[in-house]
Amino acid sequence: MSPNPQADLAIVGGGAAGMAAALYSSRATLNVVLFEGATPGGQIALTDEVENYPGLGVEEPITGPEIAGLFQQHAEKFGTKVEYALVEKVSGKAGAFSLETTAGVWVARALMVAPGSSARAIGIPGEKEMMGRGVSTCATCDGPFFRGREVVVIGGGDSALQEALFLTKFASKVTVVHRRQGFSASTALVKRAQAHDGIDWKLDCVPEAILGEGVVEGVRIRHLPSDTVEDFVTSGVFIFIGHTPNTAFLQGFVDLDASGYVVVNRDQATSRSGVWAAGDCADHQYKQLITSAGDGVKAALNAIHFLETH
Ligand code: NAP
Repeated sequence: MSPNPQADLAIVGGGAAGMAAALYSSRATLNVVLFEGATPGGQIALTDEVENYPGLGVEEPITGPEIAGLFQQHAEKFGTKVEYALVEKVSGKAGAFSLETTAGVWVARALMVAPGSSARAIGIPGEKEMMGRGVSTCATCDGPFFRGREVVVIGGGDSALQEALFLTKFASKVTVVHRRQGFSASTALVKRAQAHDGIDWKLDCVPEAILGEGVVEGVRIRHLPSDTVEDFVTSGVFIFIGHTPNTAFLQGFVDLDASGYVVVNRDQATSRSGVWAAGDCADHQYKQLITSAGDGVKAALNAIHFLETH
């Protein structure tokens, strides 16, 4: 039997954080393997046009998948080996981590986890089919495409109201659809949103289907107290009903917070020596392409230093 393949650094996740870390660490001549999971390229690969990554898309528009492809090409140029496999279990300690993957077992001296997070889906017809074609989970990414058009925001938490306020910069009207009268968002945010002329409210309402032929044309909404249904015309549906970090496989291996995010310090180090985390799996707040890439680089620089000194 041949021995398990080995790497200096194994990176779990091929989004911005993982690819930026792979670029830096393979350029520093480490032997790097990166595992691409169920969403190759990460969240950005689900985004159409990207306008907010410095230096990209200035002359010609650039899409999320194009950027994800460039990130990968750049990491591979310096020798990163990309494995298309899911990492199901990690164990071991610094110097000898073991990764059980759908492509067999790998051994690595150090580990970086960047498995991202998944926007929670409502699970209604049309939602998955029209993701990126009028359905979005990122106002910063997609809001500018709805200049002068009407959009709907689903949710009543901080994200929903904050993003609804952000969307008023572009949309001619933002309608917040929320399943009850009260909000889980902070009182200050609720007051600001309620005072905004550009925001309408459909409370005690749940979305039942996203309507449209290939692109969003409306949303079917049920008003719970009256049990009546309305087909509300809109060209955009922004869903903010929370995120779930993809960290189930890390349970018991590194510290996670109550919401499942990996706990990291300012060096992106986790509770386990030799393991770093970056990107959406460890970031409650920013979740931007550039901040994920930046945190990935911090993790890589620290991993490089660790491997040089241990
Ligand atoms: P969240 O606080 O969990 O809110 C999710 C919202 O979606 C709630 O209003 C919830 O309704 C609703 N919802 C959940 N499942 C739903 C479903 N199946 N159908 C329809 N609606 C559904 O998530 P979040 O807003 O993403 O915030 C996550 C964390 O980040 C929170 O701790 C938040 O405070 C924090 N955050 C803070 C800021 C800020 O401080 N500016 C900004 C963004 C996020 P119910 O209320 O009825 O459960």
